[in-house]
Amino acid sequence: MKASNLKNPFYHYGNKGAVWSNETHIAMSGTSGTLCSTPMLATNWARIWEHENVGCPDCLTKLLELEGYIIEVDIKLVEFDDNNRPFYRNNGKIMLSKRAYDYAVAN
Ligand SMILES: [Zn+2]
Repeated sequence: MKASNLKNPFYHYGNKGAVWSNETHIAMSGTSGTLCSTPMLATNWARIWEHENVGCPDCLTKLLELEGYIIEVDIKLVEFDDNNRPFYRNNGKIMLSKRAYDYAVAN
């Protein structure tokens, strides 16, 4: 899928190797790994180089599982996850998949 089609809280991530092999991943704000559990340790070259294609099949499958139950979540409810990582710093509301929220809290 095209990276530009990803909506909050999802974004694409990839180190140089992932970009070169056209297997960049999908990540979600508030978590420290990609949807396929690849650690995000390096610079996000997929974003810097504006790589348009999201190619990791495991991430694409996971995204389909997470989407589908779109609910409106108050930012205060998702400000910090279980590991005290800020989920969102902005005030206001975002549209968030319930499954995506549950995933963020669990991970
Ligand atoms: Zn992936």
